[in-house]
Amino acid sequence: MTHVTVWNEYLHERQDELVAAVYPKGIHQAIADGIACGDFTVGTATLDQPENGLTDEVLKKTDVLIWWAHMGHEQVSDETVNRVHQRVLQGMGLIVLHSGHFSKVFKKLMGTSCDLRWREYGEKERIWVVDPAHPIAEGIGLYFELEKEEMYGEHFDIPAPDELVFVSWFEGGEVFRSGCTYHRGQGKIFYFRPGHETHPTYYDKNVLKVIANAIRWAAPKHGANPIYGYNEPLEAIVKKG
Ligand code: ZN
Repeated sequence: MTHVTVWNEYLHERQDELVAAVYPKGIHQAIADGIACGDFTVGTATLDQPENGLTDEVLKKTDVLIWWAHMGHEQVSDETVNRVHQRVLQGMGLIVLHSGHFSKVFKKLMGTSCDLRWREYGEKERIWVVDPAHPIAEGIGLYFELEKEEMYGEHFDIPAPDELVFVSWFEGGEVFRSGCTYHRGQGKIFYFRPGHETHPTYYDKNVLKVIANAIRWAAPKHGANPIYGYNEPLEAIVKKG
């Protein structure tokens, strides 16, 4: 059983009628409901909770953390960012969605500005599978489409991904690396682009399938924890000369 925590800043849904109409219980709850299955136990956490909802206890039991944020990046405390960062290095999976590209934790893990070009026109996005053998693309066809999305365009200032799974094309002409994997320490990270708060993207069956696939891919399946520092020899070493 994989334990998933869906974290959302949960600000816009409580301030804007348009967003509340699409996600009345918040984006975190829509994702939690959408990925519910026999393989996952799913919890949620939000910015306004003590320690931003991501206490040591919550993070310790989390196998994969999903992150959605947009306007509240700076409100996440540095202590929370450091706790999440440490847990990723120790092996927790992390799925960063959409505007989470500008979160403190993603920028810290990437080491670049993570900046990009954007436009809110509600245009068509066609998401192409460019690595059909990748487990995150399982069950997805050659491509899938979202009728209305915000545009994110290149250049996206990220380190070269370990694997590129999806590339998006937008109606206005831009392209974007929209499904990227990374390894940091023992942790696996997946960035997935779609999910602007005024569009019903997190009810789309392909989007939910990609997120569920990414949870299975990012869940820790590790050997023993590594030990660092001075090491006693395992065998007697014959002194030479
Ligand atoms: Zn957006």
